[in-house]
Amino acid sequence: MPRPTNDQLPMNAWTTTPEWQENPLEALLSSELDPKYMARSQARGLAVHRSDSLQRMVLRWAKSSRFRNAQTIVEREPLRIVSRNVFLFELKSSTEVRSEPHSKRSPLPARYVPRDEAPQDIWDVIVPESARFVPVKPTPIRIPGAAHVVVCEDCDGQGELLCADCAGRGTVERAVKVRASDGSVSTQSQERSCTPCQGSGKIACRRCNARGELLEEQMFLWSRTTHTLHGEDDPTTPHPRLLNQHAQVIFRDAVRLDDARWQQIPAMADLITQATTAHAHDGIILDAELTIRAAPLTDITYLVGGRTRSIAVIGYANIVAADSSFYDWRSIAVAGLVILSIVVVILAVVLRH
Ligand SMILES: [Zn+2]
Ligand SMILES: [Zn+2]
Repeated sequence: MPRPTNDQLPMNAWTTTPEWQENPLEALLSSELDPKYMARSQARGLAVHRSDSLQRMVLRWAKSSRFRNAQTIVEREPLRIVSRNVFLFELKSSTEVRSEPHSKRSPLPARYVPRDEAPQDIWDVIVPESARFVPVKPTPIRIPGAAHVVVCEDCDGQGELLCADCAGRGTVERAVKVRASDGSVSTQSQERSCTPCQGSGKIACRRCNARGELLEEQMFLWSRTTHTLHGEDDPTTPHPRLLNQHAQVIFRDAVRLDDARWQQIPAMADLITQATTAHAHDGIILDAELTIRAAPLTDITYLVGGRTRSIAVIGYANIVAADSSFYDWRSIAVAGLVILSIVVVILAVVLRH
């Protein structure tokens, strides 16, 4: 018996009752999510679930191309029909990092007056103002109250060093040629004053500018970084690219990451962990902005050959997307062979000339 073409297929009305699956997030953030979107997604669910509209949508999709296997859809009753909202999260955070302090030694300023104050805690130090979410490159910042005077280790507190040229003697020997009265030339050594130390045998210590002391200050590196992390409340949801295309913003606001509600949304809890662990010991999150986007999805599940297969109807435009089992691979293979044959013939003709 010849296989019926897609147009000839009969249609038996589905008896599977569609379900609406609420996401815990909808109750948790009910007052903050865009009410227009929420109302519209409910209305869409009702519309696609009404009588046979979903079935007609899917059949129209299957029949619109000979590469789709409408028979699989017609022959089977869906196992489940579930409509829900898919939520996509974007968490933008700005982290301020203050590194472990390190010491920096420099020549003692000319008029240095030690101040009697306790060193400040690194997180109490006032840093320059900067706009929200603007990155700052690692910048050294001085910790007030943590400076003290130390002996210069290069000159051992003397402010001067032995001259390397004369080893501290102040003079150097130089070979000079001397012509005697009989005309013969001989080489003699002569003591001359050492130029670099001007005969003193000592040169000023450059490290401490001849002060013999250094100022040791405590510094830390201050920086700000901005990260944007993406998450999805159910990473196993099929057709992520299409959902992403059809998702719309339903929430965007500054958020507190320690808000206990986020821990009830696994995707958010995961994003917060990612945002905070990188600098758990040397950073704090200054600002966080959360964007939630949503797209309505109706998932029609079938049992094909003992395996679960699904057709998804996505967004308000009701885009149909199916997994590979709903494609007619025999037709696709035939079309592929036809194209390949044409290419071979063209190549053969071109190569002969
Ligand atoms: Zn010195
Ligand atoms: Zn010298």
